[in-house]
Amino acid sequence: TDEQFKNVISHAKEYGFVFPSSEIYDGLSAVYDYGQNGSELKNNIKTYWWKAMVQMNENIVGIDSAIFMHPTIWKASGHVDGFSDPMIDNKDSKKRYRADQLLEDRIAKYDEEGKTSEAEELQIEMDNALKAEDLPRLRELIIEHDIKCPVSGTANWTEVRQFNLMFSTQIGAVADDADVVYLRPETAQGIFVNYLNVQKSGRMKIPFGIAQIGKAFRNEVIARQFIIRMREFEQMEMQFFVRPGTQKEWFDKWKETRLKWHLALGTAPEKYRYHEHTKLAHYADAAYDIEYEFPFGFKEVEGIHSRTDFDLSQHEKFSRKKMQYFDPEVDPETGKPFGNYIPYVIETSIGLDRMFLLTLINAYEEEDLSTDEKQDSRTVLRLHPVLAPVKAAIFPLTKKDGLPEKAREIMDKLKLDFNLQYEEKDAIGKRYRRQDAIGTPFCITVDHQTLEDNTVTIRHRDTMAQERVNADDLDRIIGNLVSW
Ligand code: ATP
Repeated sequence: TDEQFKNVISHAKEYGFVFPSSEIYDGLSAVYDYGQNGSELKNNIKTYWWKAMVQMNENIVGIDSAIFMHPTIWKASGHVDGFSDPMIDNKDSKKRYRADQLLEDRIAKYDEEGKTSEAEELQIEMDNALKAEDLPRLRELIIEHDIKCPVSGTANWTEVRQFNLMFSTQIGAVADDADVVYLRPETAQGIFVNYLNVQKSGRMKIPFGIAQIGKAFRNEVIARQFIIRMREFEQMEMQFFVRPGTQKEWFDKWKETRLKWHLALGTAPEKYRYHEHTKLAHYADAAYDIEYEFPFGFKEVEGIHSRTDFDLSQHEKFSRKKMQYFDPEVDPETGKPFGNYIPYVIETSIGLDRMFLLTLINAYEEEDLSTDEKQDSRTVLRLHPVLAPVKAAIFPLTKKDGLPEKAREIMDKLKLDFNLQYEEKDAIGKRYRRQDAIGTPFCITVDHQTLEDNTVTIRHRDTMAQERVNADDLDRIIGNLVSW
């Protein structure tokens, strides 16, 4: 499966999905660029999310807040003081590691070796040290368990230090402490500080949600597994504001709704699982991850968090502005309106790049097409048609006899509605394979018969079956499969 993952990564590069950033300068670690097909796929995933969350729910609206925000926001949210990882350096290799990651790898190793009690014991000791923020204890555990640097092979470790994950920069020309701003490490805070603006201007009534898609930045220290952990990535988040006391019910609802969204793409349900958080973040009263089974194991793709009134209360405290909502609805118990309160929040937060990788891995297949006569195979991306970067490719059979002109004419009628590709180079079989490799659901071939009766061959990606249809019907045929 390592092999399979490597193949997906090189496929992603070869076919214009994902490139390492700044490649001609030997790259920039944990930063990636999306290519011509990758950006289409990414946009389609965003659209799928936006439609499901915003368009389909009358009580959810979307915003697009700035990446830069007032620095006090990150004080209020707890990120300035708390958004950090415990790091340790090896003095010989000068490599830096997350102390908890080193210990977790060791726990996994104990588990593998069947040393369950050692694994459990270390897990408890590590959890206690993390909870107490006892950094010297983390170091002791690393030493006690004789954990060595994978690069130098030595156990010559520095102290453990907290390392904040936020990137900072300055606003304006003068570099002064007061002008420090952060690149947001999550999009959520842009929603919280705007919740009353949206509520008032949109006359929203609780329960209601605010959705946002945007970039987030984290100075991740261990960058591994391709676009799973990036320093610049994109989140699709929705904060749902509810009446205090109803959070459990809404949490359960969103937990289910979000898994359904994933499964509606046709992914096998056994590829997904929920993971319940037992160590809760300071702001949460319940948290579940939706995990997907990547080739390297189950990994978080989305988090559903019950964030209580923590964020809004903190902003009330730090900004000294009222964050309360007036609920005019009558409480059946008291016969009076629910009145003023700070809403509770249920958050759904999905990493777009992880969703992208999941989609690519799940779609990727090396299909054996060998027959008794000859060996043959193809690489095909079995993407859901609504997500496919190119919806149909149009091929004139040959470059002469007016076929290119006819193919262009057909293409012109369709290209406003569908992203199409025109190809006239190479044999048809080769052109089919190139489209299979980027997941194009349809290939349409224009031949001499087309000039006589306006019919074309349409070839289906998954079955490779071909049929002859009238060119005037293409709009409907393609639309049936690729429209939302
Ligand atoms: P992890 O434990 O994997 O670091 P997290 O719990 O910090 O993730 P959240 O803060 O809950 O993640 O962020 C919500 C979502 O954003 C995650 O489910 C993930 O899909 C995505 N995400 C978080 N960090 C990164 C990153 N460095 N690169 C890409 N996606 C990320």
